[in-house]
Amino acid sequence: MLPRLLTIAALVALSGFFSGTETAFTSLSAAQIHQIRDKWGKRGRMVAAASENPERLLTVVLIGNNVVNIAASVLAGEFTVRVFGSSALAVTTAILTLMVLVFGEVTPKQLAMSHNEAWSVHTVRLITFLDLILRPVVWAIASVVMLLTRLSGATPSSVVTREGLLSLVKHAEHVGVLENSKSRMVKNVFRFGDVTVESIMTHRTRVFSLEKTVSIEDALHEISRHGFSRVPVYDADPERIVGIAILRDLLQRREQGEGNAPISTVMVDPIFVPGHRSVEEMLTQFRAEGLNMAVVLDEYGGVSGVVTLEDAIEEILGEIYDEHESKHREPVTDMGDGSVRIMADAPVYVVNELLDLEIPDVRGGKTVGGYLMTRIGHIPVVGEEVNTDLGRFVVEAMTGRRIVAVRLRLTTASEDDDGDWGQ
Ligand SMILES: [Mg+2]
Repeated sequence: MLPRLLTIAALVALSGFFSGTETAFTSLSAAQIHQIRDKWGKRGRMVAAASENPERLLTVVLIGNNVVNIAASVLAGEFTVRVFGSSALAVTTAILTLMVLVFGEVTPKQLAMSHNEAWSVHTVRLITFLDLILRPVVWAIASVVMLLTRLSGATPSSVVTREGLLSLVKHAEHVGVLENSKSRMVKNVFRFGDVTVESIMTHRTRVFSLEKTVSIEDALHEISRHGFSRVPVYDADPERIVGIAILRDLLQRREQGEGNAPISTVMVDPIFVPGHRSVEEMLTQFRAEGLNMAVVLDEYGGVSGVVTLEDAIEEILGEIYDEHESKHREPVTDMGDGSVRIMADAPVYVVNELLDLEIPDVRGGKTVGGYLMTRIGHIPVVGEEVNTDLGRFVVEAMTGRRIVAVRLRLTTASEDDDGDWGQ
């Protein structure tokens, strides 16, 4: 009796080994694999090689896991029938299921997740060996699968849709594999194709720029006061940007004793991007041309703002406390009186997500300010109200012809729409 029970226990332990190994290998990050390769010599290289072929590794682990799980059930069943009679099978099923789940799946997976480096390094020899001897089996299984797929008329396809990936990310976040912040980053990356340059740029009225006649010395003084590393240069009219002055170049020229020369002698040509271009395309252009900053053009060819690499990165990582903005601006602030303040340059999708709203996003990447402008149909004044299905917007602040901030009182089922604003 005891040897039989011990065998079953050993099989469950093996199941844990396979399941843990699966998690250990699949949870290794690229950086970890790199580190393992450098640190662990031959075994490290084996881990790297195995990670390059995850399907093979997973097949081996899957076969191993299933063989031991099934073997454990068969042995336990046979043992139960022999000792207690077949009426006890239900009890055995319950106990074994619990044992396999706890000791064969969940616990080892959690252990492997937190010690994935050590686990993968110490199991890689065995897994590689199993891969070798199981190869005929894997080949047979693959052939049968292929035959069945063909017979069913489906074409084997590995196309993963964007929605599929996003739902995977959501799931990973839900089960705790991905932290909320990371999952947000992944989602943001996928939005890149939709978000336009216009929605992440700094509007021309807020751009800090210098006239091209300013001396290098004065420019350096101004730049260091604001803490920028590159600044647009204009010719007579701030809307005519003719170059970009780079701090490094200015410093170098001053070093050479040319501090009195105008900055037009050191500026580099600006690069222009159309505002309707996607951030993704913009990034490709930035990478190809080694850029950090570009001038954004509107549909008539006029300057509408300036966009930096950092603006794009912020789209993924979220707002960064940085050299350009001295103060962190939340796109949405709860005013505590049932209303919220929304910064008008916040993209519609961000606000929709934060407030769980459905502000219509006509063209991907529009801002809340843009939405309101379209709704109002003219340049509003401070205090102007817009009633929508979502609630009542009140323009709080304007800069020139541009809305800066609005207050939104949401329409709720319990609340009347004519509540006080409590300035
Ligand atoms: Mg298992």
